[in-house]
Amino acid sequence: MIPFEIALETVLSCKYATGTEKVPLTSALGRVLAEDIRSDIDMPPFNKSAVDGYACCRRDIFNELEIIEVIAAGKAPEKIISDNQCAKIMTGAMIPQGADCVLMVEHTEKSGENSIKFIKADTAANIAYAAEDVKKGSLVLEKGILIKPEHIAILAAVGCYETEVSLQPKVSIISTGDELVEPYQIPGASQIRNSNSWQLLAQAQQMHVKVKYEGIARDDEEITRHMLEDASETSDVVLLTGGVSMGDFDFVPEMMMKTGFEILFRTIAIQPGKPTVCGRKDNKICFGLPGNPVASFVIFELLVKPLLYKMMGCEFSPRLLRMPFAHEYKRRISERLSVIPVVINSDGTVESVSYHGSAHIHALAYANGMAFIPIGKAVVEKGEFIDVRFI
Ligand code: AMP
Ligand code: MG
Repeated sequence: MIPFEIALETVLSCKYATGTEKVPLTSALGRVLAEDIRSDIDMPPFNKSAVDGYACCRRDIFNELEIIEVIAAGKAPEKIISDNQCAKIMTGAMIPQGADCVLMVEHTEKSGENSIKFIKADTAANIAYAAEDVKKGSLVLEKGILIKPEHIAILAAVGCYETEVSLQPKVSIISTGDELVEPYQIPGASQIRNSNSWQLLAQAQQMHVKVKYEGIARDDEEITRHMLEDASETSDVVLLTGGVSMGDFDFVPEMMMKTGFEILFRTIAIQPGKPTVCGRKDNKICFGLPGNPVASFVIFELLVKPLLYKMMGCEFSPRLLRMPFAHEYKRRISERLSVIPVVINSDGTVESVSYHGSAHIHALAYANGMAFIPIGKAVVEKGEFIDVRFI
């Protein structure tokens, strides 16, 4: 049994295939940026009005102002503002020459057919100045970021319609177990529905990797080996679930070895998730994840996810916070790192959800965090601070 930190280090130091591709903006969401992005323009590109109002010269603001033109957004001013003149201007339109402020419409009143008067004591400039947000040529997005909608806006604004992103690792999923039937089937007396594959599929889909579900491998050495062999030919990462414990039909580690994978570890000091096998063959990685669905979920989050992000050139940094427990928490054994599903309360405390063990997927559905109870710690006092990762 190795500590979780060593398992993570081992996984992250595996060799893997890398590469990049160009994708249009419409396909960039959730991908990892593979190039630094610099702006090809100043932002704003010109001095522009921040309000709807009247562009004029500050020294004239208490005089009656003649309106000499109307400047709409997208239209260049045609006239120069001279003494006691102004131009009616819309938000986002270019400030005309001679003007150094914009009086807000709400702060003026009509004083004649074609003139206005300012009715307040003072005004801000109400101008967004050229290049005040971003200078042409400056770095706006760094290689390695996970592209979110707000990054898409930046890419669009700097004219990056096509973006270089990291290739998506190819992931295959196989569940093992004679007791498993698929969600669209009615389980027989000794059967259960396969939930792991679908959960893993969803976890991988959420990361925008390429994922393929290979089906259920019966508890048969040859079937397991064949499916693993096929999957490892076409994928960078193979995820198997079940068949990794001490049962008579737990063939996964042996079949990984027979397929040519070098086993890196077989058990981790973590709860849930102790029977987690990891193997490597050239630049391919195979995980034998625990059969229990909560354990499978946790190990994907803690081990597989950081690896897949690393393969895409992105350092995974989940939101971690030290938070106080809302109640006392006790556990019987403390020789493993414990990962427990918790609810993060609005008062900033966390509460463990009612949890009967690693098959209790229902508990996970109510949790929005995972609390980490370190090795050697059997009791968490009420109010004691513990690391919590948001999920
Ligand atoms: P195993 O490691 O194969 O002994 O499986 C451990 C436990 O997880 C058993 O109770 C299995 O029935 C259950 N299990 C295994 N695979 C799945 C799966 N794909 N979906 C739901 N439960 C599973
Ligand atoms: Mg099994």
